[in-house]
Amino acid sequence: MSALPNETLDELSRVFSSANATFSHLAMTSNLNPKSDFKSANLSEVDFRGSDLRGYDFSNSDLTNTNWEDAIYDHTTVLNGADLSGAIALKIPKRGPGQSAQNSTFHEHFAASQHIDATGPIDCQFMFAKEQLTLAKPCTLDGIGLHKGTLVHLTLRPAAADTGIIFRRTDLETKDRAITDIQARYDNVTDATMCTTIGNAAGSKVAAIEHLMAALAAYGISNLIAEVDAEEVPVMDGSSDAFVQMIASCGLSGCGKPRRAIRILEGIEIEDGLRRGSLTPLNGFGLNLSIDFDNQVIGHQKIEIASDQEGWFSELSAARTFGFLKDIEMLRSLGLAQGATLENAVVLDGEDILNDGGLRSPDEFIRHKALDAIGDLSLLGMPIVGQYSSTRPGHAFNNQVLYALMANPSCFEYIDLPDLPEDQFVKIRPNRNLIIEQLIA
Ligand SMILES: [Zn+2]
Repeated sequence: MSALPNETLDELSRVFSSANATFSHLAMTSNLNPKSDFKSANLSEVDFRGSDLRGYDFSNSDLTNTNWEDAIYDHTTVLNGADLSGAIALKIPKRGPGQSAQNSTFHEHFAASQHIDATGPIDCQFMFAKEQLTLAKPCTLDGIGLHKGTLVHLTLRPAAADTGIIFRRTDLETKDRAITDIQARYDNVTDATMCTTIGNAAGSKVAAIEHLMAALAAYGISNLIAEVDAEEVPVMDGSSDAFVQMIASCGLSGCGKPRRAIRILEGIEIEDGLRRGSLTPLNGFGLNLSIDFDNQVIGHQKIEIASDQEGWFSELSAARTFGFLKDIEMLRSLGLAQGATLENAVVLDGEDILNDGGLRSPDEFIRHKALDAIGDLSLLGMPIVGQYSSTRPGHAFNNQVLYALMANPSCFEYIDLPDLPEDQFVKIRPNRNLIIEQLIA
């Protein structure tokens, strides 16, 4: 990304390697020209806190993961074309008198960074937030990856409006975004046999994204950079709980642009062997799922849940992934599931649950299927206003449903959520109506 002459680059790196001084101070004590030397420069991770940035031209620079807290800038600060993904700006000065809208491109990036508390119940106000949301600040989590069994660092960073959810591989020996970045979209799914894996044209992949995606969808987060230094997201306890806690501890922030949704207008059905699924119109988002296992512990389980039920996502977020001991042993012999332990999955040996403490609820299995479905369906890149029903859902099938939907444009419409008529907008029902059936075969 750099178009700077080598001497200038040398000076920049010398300047920024000096510790404990603001960007302005360092830049002013150097011989750099604010108007010309910072164009198309790699300034990622630079600390701009408190710096006076009036008169600087950062056009087309890499400003990812910079900290702009209390920085001063106005219409003379040029941010045209700069990549500001992951930039932190907690206190943004209001647009001052005499600033022209054309020049105030920072306004687009930072217009509405108002903190939204995310510690209460997760309800449709988040999932169908009318404004695009991101995290209020970055946060980090470490955990083991299920398949490789190695430690993975996950960092969630705020991102500007219309970024979408991007997974970024920080362990690759390049900063070329075409190689490191993978957009979380249904048509980037490269494998859905064990978990949901996405990949890009360069062949970079990130596996096991679905439990994090489910938490992001429930919180209505449209824009985010999820950095991982491995080929998979940490599995944590096999549920979405750690990701929910992570988001709740950071809070949310508006991105200043309306949010879009896909509203189902006409039912669409698909089947694949014994699996069945449909998307049908509904005010809000609902799930109606069932599974049948030839196993007495799991048996037939069914769940009906909708985003307008108070605390709906809390019913699902703690449900863990599950597997059978014989399958895990087989996967291990193939070099997979190296990180699988009783700490991150419900493991069944025939009719016995091997985990101390057993299940978190008798229907933990179908609750987890619902969690997976929310994560997988979120790969549309926007919420669905409609109901997903399925018997025997799975990652690959959920993905097929999205392909089927997008192949039938007469069955849905795109709608800006602020334009959804008030009488069609979902309200929270105070009385939860979670219907659970567990029939032991
Ligand atoms: Zn899962």
